[in-house]
Amino acid sequence: MNQERVAYVNGRIVPESEARVSIHDRGFVQGDAVFDTTRTFGHKIFRLDEHLDRLFDSLRYTRIDPGMSRDRLAELTMQVLEANLSLLDKEDDYWVTQRVTRGTPDGDGGFDPTVIVDCQPLPFVERSRFFRDGLPIRTPSVRRTPPESVSPRAKTHNYLNLVMGELEVKAADPRALSMLLDLDGNLCEGMGSNIFIVRDGELATPRDRFVLAGISRSVTFELAESLNLPVRQMDIDLFDAYAADEVFVTSTSWCICPVSTINGSSVGSGRIPGPVTKRLQEAYSDLVGIDIIRQYTRRL
Ligand code: PLP
Repeated sequence: MNQERVAYVNGRIVPESEARVSIHDRGFVQGDAVFDTTRTFGHKIFRLDEHLDRLFDSLRYTRIDPGMSRDRLAELTMQVLEANLSLLDKEDDYWVTQRVTRGTPDGDGGFDPTVIVDCQPLPFVERSRFFRDGLPIRTPSVRRTPPESVSPRAKTHNYLNLVMGELEVKAADPRALSMLLDLDGNLCEGMGSNIFIVRDGELATPRDRFVLAGISRSVTFELAESLNLPVRQMDIDLFDAYAADEVFVTSTSWCICPVSTINGSSVGSGRIPGPVTKRLQEAYSDLVGIDIIRQYTRRL
C-alpha cells in the first residue's frame, strides 16, 4: 500500500515527491495553462462530467491541445483518485484536479502539453469555524480582470489578479475572504468562490459574463429551483450587499458557506446561517449524501 499520495504527470503515475515539471513549461513560465477541480463526497467523485466540460471549454478558449481525449482524462482521474483513497480518513474527502499546460517547446514551433492529475485533502479543520461563525468577506481595491482582457469564464492558472486582491484583504484581516468587485463596482468573485445575496426570499448572483460559472453555483441554482426560491443573475453593488438579508459563498470545497460581515458590516440579522442559506445547505447535504456542515464542524 502506498504511504504517499500519487499523481499523474505526462504518462506516468508517480509519488508526488517524484512529480516533475520542466522549468521551461509555459504553465510555470507564463501561467499559460488551464485546470479544473472537483471533489469527493464520501470518497465518491462529484460531477466529474461538468468539471471536464468546463475544462475542455477552457482548453478551447486558450487553444491548448491536451493531446488526449476527454474519456482518457476521465479514466486517469479515476485511477489517480482510487490509488490515493487508502490514505484518506473515512470522514475526510479529496479535491481532485486536472491541469493542462501549453507545455514545453517541441523544437518545431509547437508545444508538448503537460497533463497532471492530483488529489489533495480538503481543509476541513482550518475552515471549520466559518461554518459556525460565518465568513467575513472584504472587497479589495484591486478589480477583477474584465472579460475584455481575459475571460473570467475560463479557469486558467493565471490567478495573479485574484492573488493581489487576496494579499490586500489578508493584510487588513487575515481571516477574511477576498471578494473582488468588477470594473463597475459590482460584486464579482473570490479567488475560488462565487457569491450570492438573499433579499426577501429571492437569490441574486453576479452574471456569468463576469465570473467563472462555478459548478457549485449551478448546483445552487438547481437546489433553489427545487425549493421554489427564485434566482436572478444581475449586477449587485455594495448597497445591495450591505442591505441583503443573507449572503453566502459557493465553491467546490465550501459548497455553501454563510457570510457574517462585508467590509466589517454585519449581514442581515446576524443569524448564522440565515434561514434561506440553511435550507440550501440542507438540500446540498441531501444531494451529495454527506452532512456538509458536520463534515466541517465535527472537529471544532
Ligand atoms: N470563481 C473562481 C475564480 C474559482 O477559481 C472558483 C473555483 O475554484 C469558483 C469561482 C467556484 O467554482 P466551483 O463552484 O466550480 O468550485
